[in-house]
Amino acid sequence: MLLDRLRRAKGRPCPYCGVPMTRQGKYRATRDHVMPRALGHDLNNGNCAIVCFRCNNEKADLTLEQWFYRLAHLSDRRALHVLRFLEQREAQGADQRLPRALQSVRYAEPETPLT
Ligand SMILES: [Zn+2]
Repeated sequence: MLLDRLRRAKGRPCPYCGVPMTRQGKYRATRDHVMPRALGHDLNNGNCAIVCFRCNNEKADLTLEQWFYRLAHLSDRRALHVLRFLEQREAQGADQRLPRALQSVRYAEPETPLT
């Protein structure tokens, strides 16, 4: 159940930024549609992730791939977390649509790692 999942997330690192999630405040656990609801995706087929409010709010209607580009452009270190998250999802085979997005993200990976 969603409420239980959100409660259990307290103290676990947000998969998008690595900051431990809380019950309240900007790092509170929230439910993200990994592929945006605005593009017609529902929560089926593993399209749900528990992430902090700050990341969820900033990602908004972007796909992870689009958000990755934005974060990388801003030299925001969350780009590396987002890339790792995409790789984990690919390894789990959670979503048929992600591997293609991941390929272009890998291609776009900067030569010097973000810090
Ligand atoms: Zn976060």
